[in-house]
Amino acid sequence: MPPRDEARDLRRARPESELRARLAALDGRGYPAYRALAGLWRLGPWVLAVEHVQGDPFAEPSRVRLLAPATVVGLPPWAYETATRRVAAADYLHRALARALARHSAVRGSGHSGQLRVPPPSQAVLRRSAVLIGPDGDVELRLRVGLPARGRRISASEAWATLGEALPAALREATAALGRREALRAHVATVEDAQALRAALEAHGLVAFVADGSVLPRRSGVDDRPLPSPPAVPFRAPPTLRRTLLTPHAGAVAGLGVPRGVTLIVGGGFHGKSTLLRALQAGVVDHVPDDGRERVVTDPTAVKLRAEDGRAVAGTDLSNLIGPLPGGVDTHAFVTQNASGSTSQAASLLEALEMGARVLLLDEDTSATNLLLRDARMQRLVPDEDEPIRPFVDRVRRLYEEHGVSTVLVVGGAGDYLDVADTVIGLRAYDAQDRTADARAVVAALPSQRRPQPGPWAPPPPRALDPTSLPSPRAKIRVRSRTRVEIGGEELDLSALEQLRETAQTRTLALALRALGRYTRPDRPLPEAVRALLTDLARSWEAIAPERLGELAEVRPFELAAALLRWRPLRTRRLDAEPGAAERARRPGGDP
Ligand code: ADP
Ligand code: MG
Repeated sequence: MPPRDEARDLRRARPESELRARLAALDGRGYPAYRALAGLWRLGPWVLAVEHVQGDPFAEPSRVRLLAPATVVGLPPWAYETATRRVAAADYLHRALARALARHSAVRGSGHSGQLRVPPPSQAVLRRSAVLIGPDGDVELRLRVGLPARGRRISASEAWATLGEALPAALREATAALGRREALRAHVATVEDAQALRAALEAHGLVAFVADGSVLPRRSGVDDRPLPSPPAVPFRAPPTLRRTLLTPHAGAVAGLGVPRGVTLIVGGGFHGKSTLLRALQAGVVDHVPDDGRERVVTDPTAVKLRAEDGRAVAGTDLSNLIGPLPGGVDTHAFVTQNASGSTSQAASLLEALEMGARVLLLDEDTSATNLLLRDARMQRLVPDEDEPIRPFVDRVRRLYEEHGVSTVLVVGGAGDYLDVADTVIGLRAYDAQDRTADARAVVAALPSQRRPQPGPWAPPPPRALDPTSLPSPRAKIRVRSRTRVEIGGEELDLSALEQLRETAQTRTLALALRALGRYTRPDRPLPEAVRALLTDLARSWEAIAPERLGELAEVRPFELAAALLRWRPLRTRRLDAEPGAAERARRPGGDP
């Protein structure tokens, strides 16, 4: 949130010369004396707000904010005209600032002395808290600064070198990037075009779009930048699936339109299937120019699902996919600290639907085979009453026809899916082909021996959170990585949330879980609590962290719910009278 009281702040700020004198007076004193810096200072064209001073040089660096109006920073009015442009321009400035801070960050003593940083951005353009641009173009930067020390004593000369020299130099370089108007324009235009493409999906009956010329493969499994071309083969849509969508800047853009319904991505191993699916799962957010996927867009409610044995499940209703388990374990409110491959993936799938996902993305590579399919021989060998799983192949059409939920599934081996597909995209040496007609011919010539078991799909009744099972509002949060965070000493593993892009999002999720108690009511369905929190968060980052942190980034309701539902102590409560009652009422004859 940009500072509303900026004008007042500017007037209250003390002059730079006083900052320098204040620092000189602190030289050689114990580290805590740095607290005398708290407050507002002029720093060239900026106002420096020292928000929180670290306890010692080894602690997390101090939090500062820098405030300036658009005119001073050189931000042109068109760049903050709309909310989308403000996010795009802030993303652009964030990247320039991160680079500039890295250049001017230095080791200037013990611990974190001399460090200057904002979180490193991914290839995604996200709303983040490190760089904020307000509707009037006011700019707010939230940085970490390691205040310099020799041992544990204040080093005034290094402190001035950091705050008075390195920081202003980095700020000048970052704002100089705003002067490179072509690059700034391209950044904003790329984001506006991606949003226009995504907005056009629905009207065209599509769930995703991959523009011709897109570069989908990445440099490596740990480097999300595009693989240079060559060797990367740019994407080209097969003519029968080619659609043309309009964008405000690039005009008409042609590419593959992935239609609603059930879509398979088939092809030999190593021919690029998973790479295409990964591009689709990334397409729920925008990307920077030259990412290669900046014109790959997906329905914003698309959720990637995978098997994740060992995850906890807190009362998710699995009954649409998994019936009673051995020992008579009911699956209408399934609870476990140690799910199997199939139950974990079934839980994730039903949780995504609970949150309103309209597109499911699955890859055979990372799915539980027995959740996807039971073939004819297994149907013969293992009697139905001994198999709790109602495989997805028997559910996927119902889900689409009755509930409008589309599925995109990568298959290399499970040919029985050809029976249920609307569209089949083949990949051959990274070349996309429309194999739908071929697949139909195969189905006709080689009928599947399996016996379809398409039962109804009954949306489960809502459930509420048990507030006593949520993290305490004072729980300590330690963000270990993008996929691992500790909340109140309890580990939360988010490695199955493949659409999470940045550690800043992980921190946001952890802080949101800690704040969720305030949004929980006894009869409020879980998705409503999640959405209410995110509505507040969209208005102000301080909804989850009053400390004005610069290390936050936007998250979707799907990821927040997914993180919540992996929190091992969590308990949920169904809001219908008796577990299974609503479903049995809808399904005469009871459970099969
Ligand atoms: P599959 O899922 O079909 O087995 P992958 O998608 O995992 O195949 O891709 C196999 C390899 O090919 C990966 O190393 C990937 O980076 C690379 N690759 C994928 N698409 C392309 C492309 N369009 N051009 C060049 N290399 C690609
Ligand atoms: Mg694969």
